[in-house]
Amino acid sequence: MTVERKEEGGTDCGPAKRVREGEDLGIRAFQGWIEEIYFARDESRGLAGSMLWFLEEVGELVRALRRGEESEIEGEFADVFAWLATLASIRGVDLVGVVREKYGEGCPRCGGRPCACVEVEGVR
Ligand SMILES: [Zn+2]
Repeated sequence: MTVERKEEGGTDCGPAKRVREGEDLGIRAFQGWIEEIYFARDESRGLAGSMLWFLEEVGELVRALRRGEESEIEGEFADVFAWLATLASIRGVDLVGVVREKYGEGCPRCGGRPCACVEVEGVR
């Protein structure tokens, strides 16, 4: 079950509009789940092959978003996140650790929340 957060007449865009019931999983727990389910296979496939799968899923997500394929979009987000976790695990990267280190104090450049940087093409 999902809970609609948006106001009447709102748009489909913006901060996460629907929160599914259940406790926050946490990034480390999620990475652990994906390792539990797939790590043996992912490790034997290796980084190069797994990167191709990741890119394929990114392509599927972008296509679903561009086409407005509502039935596909949420699942594609899940797939991209799962493949990102796989790449991190193969490289021995703790996703939550690097995310906290880079973004935990706000924007890595200006420190703002929200960011106050002037947007430069290709730089977040
Ligand atoms: Zn900034």
